[in-house]
Amino acid sequence: MDTMAAASPLPEIRSVTVKSVLSRSGISGIDYSLNPYIGCLFGCRYCYADFVARYRGRTEPWGTFVDIKSNAPEMLRRELGRRAPGRVSLSLVTDPYQGVEREARITRRCLEALAEAPAFAVSILTRSTLVARDADLFGRMPDIEVGMSVPTGDDAVRRITEPRAPAIEARLAALRRLKAAGVRTYAFVGPLLPMDPRDLARRLLGAVDWVLLDRLNYSWKIRDLLRRPGWSRVLAPDWLAEVRGAFAEELAPAGIACHYVGREAPSAGAEGGRR
Ligand code: SF4
Repeated sequence: MDTMAAASPLPEIRSVTVKSVLSRSGISGIDYSLNPYIGCLFGCRYCYADFVARYRGRTEPWGTFVDIKSNAPEMLRRELGRRAPGRVSLSLVTDPYQGVEREARITRRCLEALAEAPAFAVSILTRSTLVARDADLFGRMPDIEVGMSVPTGDDAVRRITEPRAPAIEARLAALRRLKAAGVRTYAFVGPLLPMDPRDLARRLLGAVDWVLLDRLNYSWKIRDLLRRPGWSRVLAPDWLAEVRGAFAEELAPAGIACHYVGREAPSAGAEGGRR
């Protein structure tokens, strides 16, 4: 579990069984949500998904536990046979490629089931370079897009806000590998953390087909953190406009569409698969 090296205290990892894995989504364009895990060991400081801990009756701090849904692939196969076709998002409240996936392979086995059900489209969103492992599988799926969360291009910021997630350049390299393999890729740039937007936009060239910006309503969670010297710019009302302008200028000439939440997005995954 290389991506969990900074985990402290020791993470609690359990295996559980579930009665179903496909949840109807209320998000526009996303028909189903599929979460192979409960909890997330990346433990990003602004994560909105921590409500899952309360919902599941967990008292441990968010980011210190994960339940592996060990029978998720089998349950998914059953459900795909009786559900109406639609778009499946992995994942809205966990990271499907967090470190435990390397050995557990629940996400991979769920995707294998989805590959056998081509009427279902798939949107993936992760922070993990492990996603590149499954390039072979993505190549067998007729309608799939793979997104990488890249809320900043600055690793100094990343080390404070999401210290257990892979370095930014490693994420971009994984996107480049997938795109080179013919997979449709996107970057989810949200929440908009401190960054040099022009630099990040340039680094996305050759890595993605499109970009989604989302400021998100995150600031209350890390407002104190954002008051660090040099970070408060992200709280300004025009921060999104500044980032949008820089991204559009850098990416439009290369034909890379740049969308932002609040207007149309090119796919359901873009609109819904954000954490
Ligand atoms: S934002 Fe995503 S990767 Fe980070 S802790 Fe939440 S679910 Fe995990």
